[in-house]
Amino acid sequence: MYTEQQLLPISALQHLIFCERQCALIHVEQLWAENVWTVEGRQLHNKAHDGKTDSRGDTRITRSLWLKSHRLGLIGQADIVEFSSDGTVTPVEYKRGKPKTDDSDRVQLCAQAICIEEMLNTTIERGALFYGTRKRRTDVAFDDVLRQKTELVTRRLHQMIDQRETPAAKRQKKCEKCSLLELCMPDSMKREKGVASWNARQYAGRSADAPKSDDFSIFE
Ligand code: SF4
Repeated sequence: MYTEQQLLPISALQHLIFCERQCALIHVEQLWAENVWTVEGRQLHNKAHDGKTDSRGDTRITRSLWLKSHRLGLIGQADIVEFSSDGTVTPVEYKRGKPKTDDSDRVQLCAQAICIEEMLNTTIERGALFYGTRKRRTDVAFDDVLRQKTELVTRRLHQMIDQRETPAAKRQKKCEKCSLLELCMPDSMKREKGVASWNARQYAGRSADAPKSDDFSIFE
């Protein structure tokens, strides 16, 4: 069980799945920068957090509920949690754009569900992601595979933060969408690699010209 001081933000799971270096720059080195996508995302979240607890039929809708799990060592705020009169609890998370190709949104939502389960001693079968582009909910089942992945990513997050580890930059297609692109400078790492391999080639070249052990045989 993690202590209160060891709790890490649930949102960091998303950063970790997107790019381990991005996660370390934000959560180890405390760097942050906005781009159009982060601003859009924040606006959508603010909208979701706007408003008080209300009811729709037999469902109570709570906004901005604080969640934590000492077992996973996570803390965060849910956009919406719905409590139905039959005991069903459903976390709902608002996201900009459309469903992603990776599991980051599903893992974040599953982590929220595990937090609520621990806090309320209940079981949550499903949640939903509401994407800004589609403007409708995508159902998410918290099956064993998703739960295991969530636990695995969470353990990796704690390991990275504990060891204050910042992985090296690796230029990828997704860097174009990363708000930390200018701070991360993946292209300079590429150049450094280029310089390193040029140095290695030069050294190898010199080594090739250098006398080998057999060349000294004439002096024997
Ligand atoms: S610019 Fe690329 S390598 Fe750097 S943090 Fe962003 S996604 Fe990761």
